[in-house]
Amino acid sequence: MKEKINQIISKYDSDRNRLMDILLDIHEEKGYVDKNDVEILAHSLGISTVEVDETISFYHFFSSKPRAKYNIYLNNSITANMRDREGVKEALEKACGTTFGNVTEDGMFGLYDTSCIGMNDQGPAALINDIVFTNLTSYRVSKLVSGLKEGKELRDLIYENNGDGNNADPDMQSMVFNNIRKGSILLNKDYERFDIINNELSKYSPQDVIQIVEDSNLRGRGGAGFPTGMKWRFGRRVEGNHRVIICNADEGEPGTFKDRVMLTEFPDLVFEGMVIAAYATGADIGLVYLRYEYKYMLKFLNRILSEMRENNLLGKNIKGIKDFDFDIRIQLGAGSYVCGEESAMIESLEGKRGEPRDKPPFPVEKGYLQLPTIVNNVETLASAVRIIKNGAEWYKQYGIKDSTGTKLLSISGDCKFPGIYEVEWGTSISEVLEMCGAKNVQAIQVGGPSGMMIGPRDFDNLSSSDLMKWYKPSGMMVAEKFFDMKLSYSDMPTGGSMIIFSNERDLLRDVVMNFMDFFIEESCGSCSTCRNLPFIMKQKLEKILNGHGVRQDIDDLLSWGKTIKVSRCGLGQTAANPILSSILNFRHLYEKHVQAMADYDNIFDITKSVEAANKFVDRKTEFHHSN
Ligand code: SF4
Repeated sequence: MKEKINQIISKYDSDRNRLMDILLDIHEEKGYVDKNDVEILAHSLGISTVEVDETISFYHFFSSKPRAKYNIYLNNSITANMRDREGVKEALEKACGTTFGNVTEDGMFGLYDTSCIGMNDQGPAALINDIVFTNLTSYRVSKLVSGLKEGKELRDLIYENNGDGNNADPDMQSMVFNNIRKGSILLNKDYERFDIINNELSKYSPQDVIQIVEDSNLRGRGGAGFPTGMKWRFGRRVEGNHRVIICNADEGEPGTFKDRVMLTEFPDLVFEGMVIAAYATGADIGLVYLRYEYKYMLKFLNRILSEMRENNLLGKNIKGIKDFDFDIRIQLGAGSYVCGEESAMIESLEGKRGEPRDKPPFPVEKGYLQLPTIVNNVETLASAVRIIKNGAEWYKQYGIKDSTGTKLLSISGDCKFPGIYEVEWGTSISEVLEMCGAKNVQAIQVGGPSGMMIGPRDFDNLSSSDLMKWYKPSGMMVAEKFFDMKLSYSDMPTGGSMIIFSNERDLLRDVVMNFMDFFIEESCGSCSTCRNLPFIMKQKLEKILNGHGVRQDIDDLLSWGKTIKVSRCGLGQTAANPILSSILNFRHLYEKHVQAMADYDNIFDITKSVEAANKFVDRKTEFHHSN
């Protein structure tokens, strides 16, 4: 094995910054990284064993202990729970003969929970040795496990052949479904592959390209909504011999899966967008940070990049444009939500723990390897291609004034047609609900757990309140005053996820608790606020749900929700949002549980609660109450 590890290290030129790739390759080879491997790595890469260990321990899909032959990661997002994830989990435990978090004695099966794997429209879903299995049922998993026990190949147990579109491509072979319900200017088959690079780009100067994108008012589609043209202009201005374009394909926000569909059906559009961005900004290094859960796409995407190289769409003097040198490499993540934050992603790209950096400096000044770095979302880059092709004025016909163009929505939950919808900005939430066949809607989670939970009264008229003066989802340009009914950057911004809950759902017990668990699990732990408050707030919510809450508890939650906003990055700043936005819009659900008019918990029975402890030490309970 030592020899193999040395080969892997040499493959990456003993480059410390490629530690992620090295660890991923070692996992591919033997399933985990042990102490000896860590020592070899530290020695060869010129870093300490602590640095190697801290990277391994940070990521969900790395392991320092031997794993099973088949590692089953069952997704625990809220929509999976709504489709009997519990039944699937029990069936897996029964069929495998072990419980979650453990490996069977014979080393055959390991069972693990994992956060959203980008399959909210087809859950419950699981990753089994990196192959995605969707629409799981108790019956299907018991058949699957018995097939594996009989010695069948994992791939042969994909039960409905492959999914639709490019999911069936020989290099993809996944049983994932695109579920494209509505397309517009992005999800449009009239796209001519690489037409801009082949025929148009040389007609424009880099400044022209930036100007067109600025004129179109394109804003970042990841959620933050920063003007794309401005970002490119800043990037071009910063001095440096090299510049970097990063495509953020780490969509980890539970309920979001639009980038998965873009990369499956229109990867060339995204890569072409990266080339245009590189031309505009003078970048020569291109990186796609692809979340580990989408590893099944890697071969397919790399094939397209190879085709681009063969056709001089990447490489040196691209399409005869003198000194326009640019290439793209795909970097796989290894399971960490916070790596969707751009500076955390850059740390990860450098082979480190994905902990967000302090800002300033911003990545556009000092990003990947301290080089000027422009990070754009998959959808943003794809939009740029359509803009250069058709012009800024054409683009501005779509959407509304402050939010031009279209938005891809990932819709899941209680509706008839979950999937991807490309709608114009300015579309009302009521219209979206109608499109996807949602009835008896109690609530919608807009923008994933870090976004907002809104109720029917908000669908048509989202009113302001004092609370809104300080409640502001981080990273979003949200007006502090009035909300109205349209999806737009100024009023109802969204990274694209909408999860629908019908009247039958228990919003606090099932939904909010699930979201809080997610944030507790995903905090990187650097800030005490983000490390502690979500946990304490969840406990407080449990107390309320168990009938021990008083009105002061709701006030405490609101006050702690304010404190958490000082956290360093968007994860911590939004980690209280499930509780805050449900108090904001569903306060009656909280009030139903709290003890009316009580200042303290008068149901709590201290004598009873210490009974077991007293019995254990043979002590008599004597409390002196002063009434
Ligand atoms: Fe880490 Fe949370 Fe602080 Fe972000 S806010 S740096 S995730 S601890």
